[in-house]
Amino acid sequence: MPPPAPSRSAPASLEARALSAWFGRRKVLDRVSLTMPAATVTALIGPSGCGKSTFLRMLNRMHESVPSAKLAGEVLLAGHDIYEPGERVTHTRKRIGMVFQKPNPFPAMSIADNVTAGLKLTGTRVSRSAKADLIERCLSRAGLWDEVKDRLSSPGSALSGGQQQRLCIARSLAVEPEVLLMDEPCSALDPTSTYRIEQTIHELAPEVTIVIVTHNMQQAARVSQQCAFFLASQGTPGVIVESGDTNQIFTNPGDERTADYVNGRF
Ligand code: ADP
Ligand code: MG
Repeated sequence: MPPPAPSRSAPASLEARALSAWFGRRKVLDRVSLTMPAATVTALIGPSGCGKSTFLRMLNRMHESVPSAKLAGEVLLAGHDIYEPGERVTHTRKRIGMVFQKPNPFPAMSIADNVTAGLKLTGTRVSRSAKADLIERCLSRAGLWDEVKDRLSSPGSALSGGQQQRLCIARSLAVEPEVLLMDEPCSALDPTSTYRIEQTIHELAPEVTIVIVTHNMQQAARVSQQCAFFLASQGTPGVIVESGDTNQIFTNPGDERTADYVNGRF
């Protein structure tokens, strides 16, 4: 009997507690705290340079490849600090996936191999028959299966930008993450591709906790249940000015700076 397909993991909550970040001696985030409940979409908004990407990257230890980066604070995944001594970074990355602004599939690798590439990196073992199921399931969840099912051995670079981004989402889903971090995933895409990615976010949200950075206020309003507004004024490190229910942030924000930002006044 073939082994069963790997089970889907449940979405987990993520909580940043008093996260501060430095590059060299420059502090870029100051004691930022945010709870991102399981199975919800949280949008991080705010002007360029206020630390949104830094915050997002620290949620899965990406900054550890930047020698000048330093962090203080805690990140609790389902209640456990990912920075606790002994926590393996590969284990964290398996549980918390990431999608970047610029689609970055492995260009020479086939579409199918792109989907399963993360399994090798995280040391996840899957039998050959389960692999075919996994490829179909991940490409379906990313809304790409129907478009590519007849050319799974074509290179990832043969796809359009929007398809490449959905391939990257499929790749991140292959290790069954509990959380998916997305840093401006639609900024490089046309409106139709953007719409497809938003649909995918809607479909994934009950199964995966999603944190998305976006400069598109309509997008934040469409996809998220919760919003956090980041700001770094006049050379001070980034902070969250306000966070809460997306409807409230857009219709009745508690801080004048949030109102100005979401209404396009800066
Ligand atoms: P955002 O995503 O909100 O635009 P970032 O998190 O990218 O902001 O950047 C926050 C601040 O940290 C900026 O001033 C940026 O120049 C600085 N920064 C980001 N990455 C690095 C790095 N690798 N080295 C030095 N400074 C950095
Ligand atoms: Mg950024």
